Amino acid sequence: MSSDSARFAPADTTDPIGPDEDPATFSDLGLRPELLDAITALGYEEPTPIQRAAIPPLLAGRDLLGQAATGTGKTAAFALPLLHRLPTTRTGEPVALVLVPTRELAVQVSEAIHRYGRDLGARVLPIYGGQPIGRQLRVLDGGVDVVVATPGRALDHIARGTLRLDQLDTVVLDEADEMLDMGFAEDIEAILRDVPEQRQTVLFSATMPDRIDGMARQHLRDPIRIAIGRQPAAGGETPLVRQVAYVVARAHKPAALGRVLDIESPTAAIVFCRSREEVDRLTETMNGRGYRAEALHGGMGQEQRDRVMGRLRTGTADLLVATDVAARGLDVEQLSHVINYDVPSAPESYVHRIGRVGRAGRQGVAITLAEPREHRMLKTIERITGQRISIDRVPTVADLRTRRLEMTRAALHESLLEDDLEPYRVIVETLTDEFDVMEVALAAVRLAHEAIGGPIDEEDIPQVPLRPERPAGGRGRRQGPGRARAAGMTCLFIGVGRRAGIRPQDLVGAITGETRVSGREIGAIEIADRFSLVEVPRSAATEVINRLRQTTIKGRRATVRRDREGGRDLAE
Ligand code: AMP
Repeated sequence: MSSDSARFAPADTTDPIGPDEDPATFSDLGLRPELLDAITALGYEEPTPIQRAAIPPLLAGRDLLGQAATGTGKTAAFALPLLHRLPTTRTGEPVALVLVPTRELAVQVSEAIHRYGRDLGARVLPIYGGQPIGRQLRVLDGGVDVVVATPGRALDHIARGTLRLDQLDTVVLDEADEMLDMGFAEDIEAILRDVPEQRQTVLFSATMPDRIDGMARQHLRDPIRIAIGRQPAAGGETPLVRQVAYVVARAHKPAALGRVLDIESPTAAIVFCRSREEVDRLTETMNGRGYRAEALHGGMGQEQRDRVMGRLRTGTADLLVATDVAARGLDVEQLSHVINYDVPSAPESYVHRIGRVGRAGRQGVAITLAEPREHRMLKTIERITGQRISIDRVPTVADLRTRRLEMTRAALHESLLEDDLEPYRVIVETLTDEFDVMEVALAAVRLAHEAIGGPIDEEDIPQVPLRPERPAGGRGRRQGPGRARAAGMTCLFIGVGRRAGIRPQDLVGAITGETRVSGREIGAIEIADRFSLVEVPRSAATEVINRLRQTTIKGRRATVRRDREGGRDLAE
């Protein structure tokens, strides 16, 4: 592991979750074969830190108090042990009750338990307010092993005698802080009064305010405590990594990824997914969308891996799609972008992932596609790394159009300055017999534009706020879709590009080496075949232009100027 990624070693905690300990496999955890089969089918390669820490004590019957947000894999951390403990002969009365704050979570957790418990024939039922009670009654009547419920509706059923708790072996309080925030404290107390004394109790909460501690003291017996380190990074140099998150619904992720790639034009990017299945699916989707993506799997042989890496190095592939396991030990020199297709399951893996860019003083970009419900995990990551992740708006079709027109205009401008255009004069002269010069120019621009840009997708990607699923009356803070592109930046045209071997880090190096501007102040960088566009703070633009004009970039002297005459800004 490089020193870059070790910089953010998480702090010690009561029961620390090691950042990169020798990873136990799921079978090392002692789970039954039916569960291992289900996990393999889902493409999980190894347990997440919270699973590694929680599963063994839960299998041993201990109570557990865990601090973990959505996105850490906490659902499997409690679901696998409770499924493991399912008795072979079942009475039809539930043996496990999972309490969750919202309807969405009830459905989601219930689906997850159903998937994990597939081969065990586990019967799982979500019950929540707003759903016709009749259906819930029928299913409960037919026999259920695990109930996932919001507290209010669970209590309704208990009062009617339709949800019987005598056989309960496990109670899970998931997102306990949210449940308290939503005013479910009394309902939870009432439910816990009704459950058997002899049971296992598991409490997960993203935060640990005193009220949660009190609740744990009252209802948990000598619990194992698991927490994720909170202390910010210990000193040291902060890497030059621009960190951005886009909030986007799952269904729109492939399109959003494509847009972000178009706007960012990475030299080489790695996209991290949680499972092999996702790696395969995404690789196929991105290739279908015209990107050159390669999958990298834990299961691949060394030779196959080398081939894939070779294609990335030579530029035959633009994107590497990989799981954490597969990417372990990877060293791609020219990597400019790390993209988290999902919020990573542990802050440590975020830190490891982004440690792959921004090395040796170069600028790197870390992009995260977060689902609205994953905001907590983003906040935890910010806290642990001590760095801000700015939430940006997914580029719109209009943004892409503007960007592409800008690139075309800059390419034409460059050609006007530098190319020998004489051979084409005859074409213009013959056409102007019939058409106006302006019309001829417009047709030529259109052809150039299409040749440079390719087709643009028109897909509608709705801008979603963080956490939209909170029911009306919930007390959570809503956040807007985030800020637009940074203001106060000026876009510079630099007349060297990919053909001269220019990479973002070369431009960053030249600018930071020659001026007062630091790497962090540099905005978007785009590299076209024969020129580049770089955003710098407006206040420093003149200095950057003057200094770069006096120096060479990768041994070449380049035209440097504001991207548009009059210095129009990208942010306008
Ligand atoms: P959760 O934090 O429980 O909401 O889980 C977040 C996501 O991680 C879900 O989509 C799970 O399917 C996925 N997940 C959970 N455990 C693993 C694992 N060990 N490997 C890969 N993905 C996982």
